[in-house]
Amino acid sequence: MNYQEILNKGSEILKLNNIKTFNLDSEILLSSALKIDRSRLILNLDKKISNREKFFFLNFIERRKKNEPIAYIIGFKEFWKNKFIVNKNTLIPRSDTEILVEQILKEINIDSAKKILDIGTGSGCIILSILNERRKCTGVGIDISKNAIKLAKYNAKIQHIKNRIKFFNSNIDNFCRDKYDVIVSNPPYIELNKFFGLDKDVKNHEPKSALSGGIDGYSKIRLVIEKSSILIKENGKLFLEVGFNQIKGTLKILKLNGFYNNKVVKDLAKKNRCIISTKI
Ligand code: GLN
Repeated sequence: MNYQEILNKGSEILKLNNIKTFNLDSEILLSSALKIDRSRLILNLDKKISNREKFFFLNFIERRKKNEPIAYIIGFKEFWKNKFIVNKNTLIPRSDTEILVEQILKEINIDSAKKILDIGTGSGCIILSILNERRKCTGVGIDISKNAIKLAKYNAKIQHIKNRIKFFNSNIDNFCRDKYDVIVSNPPYIELNKFFGLDKDVKNHEPKSALSGGIDGYSKIRLVIEKSSILIKENGKLFLEVGFNQIKGTLKILKLNGFYNNKVVKDLAKKNRCIISTKI
């Protein structure tokens, strides 16, 4: 069997199992099984596939057929300017969250030495992306999941920023170390009745603890804001990602906790998504 034939077979299986992006997914998974990039695959379609490669590929297809996200199967996701290793213990970095990174970078001067805290760091994609571009800043990332912290540490190691970041496996309630110039969080904010309407890829495979914000969606947003008001320095800035329908509610909680609203920023679908506020 050559690459073209096995590629078609993969697409067919995915199509039969209602995977919408069957052609693209089959190509990505075959490139990953062959350990070559997609352009090389396309240029070598008449090459013969080995039994070992075929075995890997068909195993990937079996996983994708059950809606497992591509990033978990190939083991990484591109975010901002880097590749992040991901696994089922953390949310897959979203391109909408790059807006949070962009806003923070706008706020932090290239030479300033700010202390940054990332609450619910997951794979570490937000804090590591910032530290990569602001070489004098230092960071702390916390997460309630021990396995997420393991992964974030690994990402810091392969990106060579281990010496400017500390990760703690901690619940936000128990964390009271230091004061920060900047706090960032993309907390779980999906409300209960919306959770069941999420894509199968998301609801059946990504960690519920990284998505679910309780019955009204605000349980973790509230906690993050309350704790941030203690952990942040005066005039420090808080950057939050929340649901597009949670802006008004979040602004209310921020005000109650002594934060002044600077601006609300839209996501890639032009929906309000990020809130930037200052502790006064
Ligand atoms: N934006 C994510 C999603 O729709 C949710 C992320 C979160 O809850 N923090 O899947």
